[in-house]
Order: sequence, then structure tokens, then C-alpha cells
Amino acid sequence: MFPIRPHRSTGTFSSASGAAAALLRARAAEWDVELIETPDSLTMHVWGSELCLIPGDGIARIELHAPEQRLIAIMQDSATELFESHGMAINWDNVDAGALAPGLALMRLVSCTRRTPGFIRIRVQGPEAERFAHSNLHFRLLIPPQGRAPIWPRIAENGRTRWPEGEDALHRPVYTVALQREDWVEFDIFAHEGSPTCDWAGRAQAGDPVGLMGPGGGWCPEAEKLWLFGDETALPAIARMLALAPGAVRAYIRANAEDLAELAADPRVTRCDNLAAALDSAPIEAGEDLHVWFAGHVNAAREARRQLLARGLNKRQFTAAAYWGQPDSRA
Ligand SMILES: Cc1cc2nc3c(=O)[nH]c(=O)nc-3n(C[C@H](O)[C@H](O)[C@H](O)COP(=O)(O)OP(=O)(O)OC[C@H]3O[C@@H](n4cnc5c(N)ncnc54)[C@H](O)[C@@H]3O)c2cc1C
Repeated sequence: MFPIRPHRSTGTFSSASGAAAALLRARAAEWDVELIETPDSLTMHVWGSELCLIPGDGIARIELHAPEQRLIAIMQDSATELFESHGMAINWDNVDAGALAPGLALMRLVSCTRRTPGFIRIRVQGPEAERFAHSNLHFRLLIPPQGRAPIWPRIAENGRTRWPEGEDALHRPVYTVALQREDWVEFDIFAHEGSPTCDWAGRAQAGDPVGLMGPGGGWCPEAEKLWLFGDETALPAIARMLALAPGAVRAYIRANAEDLAELAADPRVTRCDNLAAALDSAPIEAGEDLHVWFAGHVNAAREARRQLLARGLNKRQFTAAAYWGQPDSRA
């Protein structure tokens, strides 16, 4: 069955022969996504959508096809950035200039409650809440600066997203949808030192505006056997995947026992203090239909990637995601 991609956008730009094609090839390799080349065109498949480049004599055509209008606008932004950075400005036939940035849902805070000693549960409400329950687990939370009226990102004439800057700049951390019902979304913030998001949660009032951008970041991996490893920041994602996984699952979570909440009674879950050691001793067999999912500090994710490759897994058999922190250059 062919995927349904009813939304479309087209544009043209001047390009030296081969230059645009070379850029698209490099981007597909960097993102590790499929690129189909024919003698006349290159088609990159990403986010369930496609970007088709038709190089010509001094002028290139670009065509976008997507299942949702939001994805068209995201691809316009991304393609404009890619080609403009190499001096090729795209003339889009249609740009929704002035509209809110693609995927941005404006919501209001309903409540902040202490869910467990280490986690704050936030509920936000808005008419677009429902779409945060499907196809992707995560979103970007947009928090306006304290004491200022929010300036939300909007689409500029060239198709790029224009973000507020300076005093109007938004804080933009990524979170995981914990629960979605009716017109609300809930998510869990791990409370830690030096967190602008926790500071916001501490002072925010019901009715305060926030933005949710997404959803994005993928769904539960499909495999007969799923291995999950993560720290506190990954706990909400692991809880979702435990509920969604079609096959056998084992999860190792580095968190305080009382923060596991209902997961403490789940026989598939093991609490641990050292994720690297848990990964090292797990009986993971590269030959099986499996997926290993690991998320935590950037250095821990880097080490997990190294370890899993060394154990013979191919890149499609695992995810090693940096959920927080700056890379340690010595690691
Ligand atoms: C796909 C994805 C999904 C995520 N889902 C969740 C989720 O559901 N719940 C959740 O709590 N987090 C989640 N995270 C992690 C979250 O985005 C980061 O922890 C983020 O840094 C939080 O923003 P902040 O405002 O607290 O701190 P920032 O402004 O980003 O950072 C401030 C300081 O806090 C430090 N810091 C950040 N996280 C931690 C931590 N966990 N422990 C100690 N210090 C820290 C930073 O290194 C920095 O020094 C997710 C991340 C990703 C990529």
C-alpha cells in the first residue's frame, strides 16, 4: 500500500549543476535516511514525507509531499536552511508567512503537582492536545521569559521559522508525553538543580501560556524483544514504551525507588544504580529480532553506542539517545 501524502509544496532555486544534489546526498547521509536517485531526480524520505529534487540547467525544482501540512512547513524550513546556507535561496510557490511555527500548539497551564519525590507532573490544556497522543512520544516545551508577554515563533516569508531573540527568547527543553486525554496533555519533569524548567514550574500559575511544539522524536521501536535502559529523564519514555511495546520487554531504570511509582510493581522493570553495568550484563544477542533503546546523559549514551556496536549490533538494532548534559571532551 502506498503511503498517503495529500499535502504538497513546490519551489525553484538557481543551482550550479550537481551542487544541490551533493548537498541533499550529504544531508541524507548525516540523518541516515533513505535517498532514492534516478537519472532525473533525488528523493529523500524523512518523517513519513518526501523531498524531491529535480536538478535542471542552472535551475532546480523542489517538491515536498507529506501526510500533514505541519510536516510540509517543517520541511520548507529545513530545506530553506540547508540550501540557503550554501547560497541557494528557494522561491517557494506558497509560504504560510506570519503563521505560527509548524507544529506549535498554544496551551495554558492547568496544574503542577508533585507526582513522586523527584518528579513534577504538569498538565496543560489546549484545542490541539489530541495530536500529541499519536505517532511520536516527545515535544518541545516553549516557556516564555518571566514577566514578558510571549512572542511565539512564526513562519517568515522565505519559509524559515523566525524565533524570538534576546529578551524575548524562549526556553525550549524537550519532554515526553506521559498522558493525553480530552483537551489536555500531561508530562513529568525530573526535578534537578539549576533547571529553568523547574524554576518555571515553581512560579507558574494556572492559566499561564506555554507552547508545545511537535510531536516528534519517534515512537516505540518494533521488535520481538525490546531492551530499555534509561535514567530519570528517560523514565517517562520508558513508561510509555512499556505500555506500547508489542513484544517482550525488559527495562532497567536508574532512579530512586520511590520515583518508579507504578513501574515498581511491573515485573519487566529492574531499578539499578549503574546503567552501563546493567547494559554490560544484559544477555543481548545481536542475532535476534531485537531493539536496544538507551537514553541518559550524553556521555552515557555515547558509551552505550560504543558498547553495542562492539557487541555486534547494527545501527538499526539500537537507539542511544543523549537526553541531557554537555559532552565531556575527555570521554
Ligand atoms: C527526546 C527527549 C525526551 C525527554 N523527556 C524528558 C521527560 O519526559 N522528563 C524529563 O524530566 N526530562 C526529559 N528529557 C530531558 C530534558 O529535556 C533535559 O533534562 C533538559 O535539560 C531539561 O531542561 P532544564 O530546563 O531542566 O535544564 P537546561 O536548561 O537544559 O539545563 C540546565 C542545567 O541542568 C543540567 N541538567 C539537565 N538535565 C539534568 C538532569 N536530569 N540531572 C542533572 N542535571 C541536569 C544541564 O546539564 C544544565 O547544566 C528529555 C530529553 C529528550 C532529548
